[in-house]
Amino acid sequence: MDKIDIKSLNATELSENLDYLSLPKFRVTQIYEWVRRGVGSFAEMTNVPATLREKLDDKFYFADVKIARKLVSKLDGTVKYLFELADGEFIESVFMSYHHGYTVCISTQVGCRMGCKFCASGINGKARDLTAGEMLAQIEAAARDNGVRVSNVVMMGMGEPLDNFRNSMKFLELVGDEKGLGIGMRHISLSTSGVVDGIYKLAEYNLPITLSISLHAPIDELRSSVMPVNKRWNLAELFKACKDYIKVTGRRISFEYALIDGFNDSDECIKKLAESVKGMLCHINLIPANPVVENDFRSPERKKVEDFQKKLESYGLTTTIRRTLGADINASCGQLRRSEANK
Ligand code: SAH
Ligand code: SF4
Repeated sequence: MDKIDIKSLNATELSENLDYLSLPKFRVTQIYEWVRRGVGSFAEMTNVPATLREKLDDKFYFADVKIARKLVSKLDGTVKYLFELADGEFIESVFMSYHHGYTVCISTQVGCRMGCKFCASGINGKARDLTAGEMLAQIEAAARDNGVRVSNVVMMGMGEPLDNFRNSMKFLELVGDEKGLGIGMRHISLSTSGVVDGIYKLAEYNLPITLSISLHAPIDELRSSVMPVNKRWNLAELFKACKDYIKVTGRRISFEYALIDGFNDSDECIKKLAESVKGMLCHINLIPANPVVENDFRSPERKKVEDFQKKLESYGLTTTIRRTLGADINASCGQLRRSEANK
């Protein structure tokens, strides 16, 4: 029998899975609280009898991550982790000091099957989905390593969260548990490349998280040339889903727009972008593109990025230019795992 990832269970599910042992209720609560506190083994549950811990060991395992490599930015203290999973796969997470608190950027899959041309995460496709427990473990490990409480999470690391829908929803349920990380939905952002059926499903949950859409190009031909997902769901379908999402949840959407020199920085793009999101409750986040070894996408120079922003704002849009953190440690996701694979 395959062992069960105990970190991915909520209190009810754990209790159901322990039914066969007929434990007193306080014991089940005790075990649950240890799990949520982020222990990595039953041996650490010091107030649980050893005979019971042995039985639990036979049925459950802990989704854990081990620090395989760690890079610390000399510029801003951002920490980039290469984590090794139990099956020997690698993922990346980033720990940032940001917005008066600590933020962890987590991965949701090992690799990614969306195939965006500018992204290092998708180069070899997807190996597998992460469990909710493995998503939590990244935050627990980063918090432990830095000796702080993490207040914000962005699901913007490797992988497409809406392509791992069930586990991502489970993660959102568990990360808010006061017995554990206690990170509320309002402190969480989920980023998608535009998996439209997932956006509709997410709207049904009506969660107070921030939804980010990786837009990157406002013209179908351009977007399809770098993001294959656009061939499945084009911009009209994507914007329709976004409008539905805003209507159902009443929440502002954030559009991510990575500026790539000579590709999506034209006046035509500015006009199209402004027209497309006109009247929408949204925010545009401009990201100077991060160079990836395997491609030749580059950000325009700073002046051009600022001009792009000014022109967009002249259409009445609210925009920001994302602060680049950890520029010296290649902090955009997927790149560290690539360099490990290329060794
Ligand atoms: N799969 C999801 C979330 C992870 S990617 C998504 O695509 O939204 C997180 C963000 O990094 C996305 O906005 C993605 O488009 C962006 N990104 C990927 N490679 C990049 C690069 N080389 N430079 C700048 N942003 C990049
Ligand atoms: Fe996957 Fe996001 Fe990278 Fe696209 S940008 S390949 S969806 S991780």
